[in-house]
Amino acid sequence: MLQYRILPVTAFAQNACLLWDNVTGDAVLTDPGGEPDRLMQAVREAGVQLREIWLTHAHIDHAGAAAEVAQRAGVPIVGPHPVDQFWIDALPQQAQMFGFPPARAFTPDRWLADGDTLQLGSLAFSVRHCPGHTPGHVVFHQPEARRCWVGDVLFAGSIGRTDFPGGNHQQLIDSITGKLWPMGDDTVFIPGHGPESTFGEERRSNPFVGGT
Ligand SMILES: [Zn+2]
Ligand SMILES: [Zn+2]
Repeated sequence: MLQYRILPVTAFAQNACLLWDNVTGDAVLTDPGGEPDRLMQAVREAGVQLREIWLTHAHIDHAGAAAEVAQRAGVPIVGPHPVDQFWIDALPQQAQMFGFPPARAFTPDRWLADGDTLQLGSLAFSVRHCPGHTPGHVVFHQPEARRCWVGDVLFAGSIGRTDFPGGNHQQLIDSITGKLWPMGDDTVFIPGHGPESTFGEERRSNPFVGGT
């Protein structure tokens, strides 16, 4: 069964997340944006075996500690979609700009594309490419658990910013309505910032995409 623990990191309270299969003990970390010591501590506390790092996109608060955690744990970095490489290359400058600790650029061990499958122990996740906030943004959907990790595509009551390089408002709306809504109203999503919600609740009440 899928278990997870949300671990807000950095000054932006970004929801890094430790996911694991409680039968096999296999685990992944999504979006390790910072505070690598704390993330490694959470892995030890859960008593699980970290296998991979999964990235939704390469903004500093999501990917800032990816290279460091990957090196320390000896695990591969998976994702995002290759058109986010320019954001990965800019991690050192992003760190400076936002006053983060120094961050290293890297090349993911595996890039992701729409329709790819990721395996966590006995659990299969489907990858959807959801551009708009960044061009290479992906989300991770686990249908049986009715959960989706959506990064900065959608928030409870809001949507991702589209005023950064490579951002596109209409693309973001299309990603939400065309890729997320079909996962079902009862699907709980874990956003990059703030509390969880369901797609159904956002369809009802989100001022940016309500009624779509
Ligand atoms: Zn972002
Ligand atoms: Zn973010």
